[in-house]
This record gives sequence, structure tokens and C-alpha cells, in this order.
Amino acid sequence: MARSLKKVENSGMTPFIFFKDRLATFKNYEYDDDQTATCTSKTLARAGFVWTGGISAICPFCLKELEFDPDDDPWEEHKKRGNDCDFVHLEKLEDSKLTLSDCIKLSQSGIVMAQFKKQNVIIEQLEQKMTVTNISATVSEVLKGPKKQSTSKSRRSRKKNP
Ligand SMILES: [Zn+2]
Repeated sequence: MARSLKKVENSGMTPFIFFKDRLATFKNYEYDDDQTATCTSKTLARAGFVWTGGISAICPFCLKELEFDPDDDPWEEHKKRGNDCDFVHLEKLEDSKLTLSDCIKLSQSGIVMAQFKKQNVIIEQLEQKMTVTNISATVSEVLKGPKKQSTSKSRRSRKKNP
């Protein structure tokens, strides 16, 4: 059992099933200095969120991304909007309450959502480039990962122009 848990934890797919992994995404969260704030990096991480910059955080299990106010209760906000969220359905805010089967479920959900998000990014990139007439070239460029290709191209064009 411990071995499987370790595997989930180190899978590199960052499913964020544990509180400490979610909390580790927050860097100097704005409301942490506010003594009266109910919305802090800790309450956000506890409620299932990871930081996406500024005052925003996202749930890796349902991909709801929200901009929070200092007086928000992150768990209440998550419950309001997370009808289709495995983390909300489990209602286990403490890691110690998670069973191995919960961990696997959340991990799968996180992996599926991460994949889904990745595909959405690719689709967005494609849509931005779709004004170009050559669709198949655009598709293969985006799927290959554009950075490497552009470096070799610019090197080649530099050689041509002395
Ligand atoms: Zn969620």
C-alpha cells in the first residue's frame, strides 16, 4: 500500500491529491498577510485548490479556476461550483481521511483533467493559428512543440544572410 501511494505521489503528473503538494504551489499569496482573511493559501489548499497566480486558484480535479476575495471560504466556493468534482464529492479535507482507493480515484481524475487541459491549450493554439491557410502544417507544428523548430529555422536563415 505504501509503495502504491509513493508511486502516486512521485508520478510527476502532479495530481495534487495531498494538501502539502497543493500548498507548495502558493508563493506569497496576497491574503496571507491579512489577519482577518478567511481565504489564505492554507484554506485554499485545504479546499483542493492550487495557485495559478495573483488571487486566482484552480481545482486540479474539476478545473474550476476562481478569483477569490479575502473573506471567501474556499471550501464553500468549491462546493457551490463543484457539482462534477471528485474532490468535492469525497468531502475529505484532511489527507489522513483519504483511503488508498480515494487516492487512486483523485489521482486518475487529476491526470485526466491535466490531459484535458493540455489538449485545450493545443486546441487554443491551433485556433489562434487557424487563419493560416495551411492547416496540416499548423497542426504538425503545434504537436511537435514549436520552440525547437523555430530555433533551427532561425539558425538556418542566419547562415543564408551574411
Ligand atoms: Zn474541484
